[in-house]
Amino acid sequence: MSKSERACLVCGIVRSLDAFVKQGCPNCDSLLSLQNSEENVHACTSPSFEGLVALSEPEKSWVARWLRIDGFQPGSYAVKVNGRLPEDIVRSLDSQGVKYRPRDGSVQD
Ligand SMILES: [Zn+2]
Repeated sequence: MSKSERACLVCGIVRSLDAFVKQGCPNCDSLLSLQNSEENVHACTSPSFEGLVALSEPEKSWVARWLRIDGFQPGSYAVKVNGRLPEDIVRSLDSQGVKYRPRDGSVQD
């Protein structure tokens, strides 16, 4: 695994730092504005993640339901992402009606 790979703190998708900066997050970019902002990419993605799963048809996959990523884009997703979104971004998501659910294992169902 290349060192530049990072996982989105919101949806868990894994891609290279470059891809996040160039294309943003395929699921969350409307919320996080990662595209063309290396600063936002660093704030909203983590280089520390575990348990990669590949999703080709997220809406049909039990893994997707387990990870709560129904309707997300196909790709590689981390089961666990270490790190937290910065408070101001959590607040901004909240104001858009999106409840941030940390993927670091600290929140149990
Ligand atoms: Zn994302």
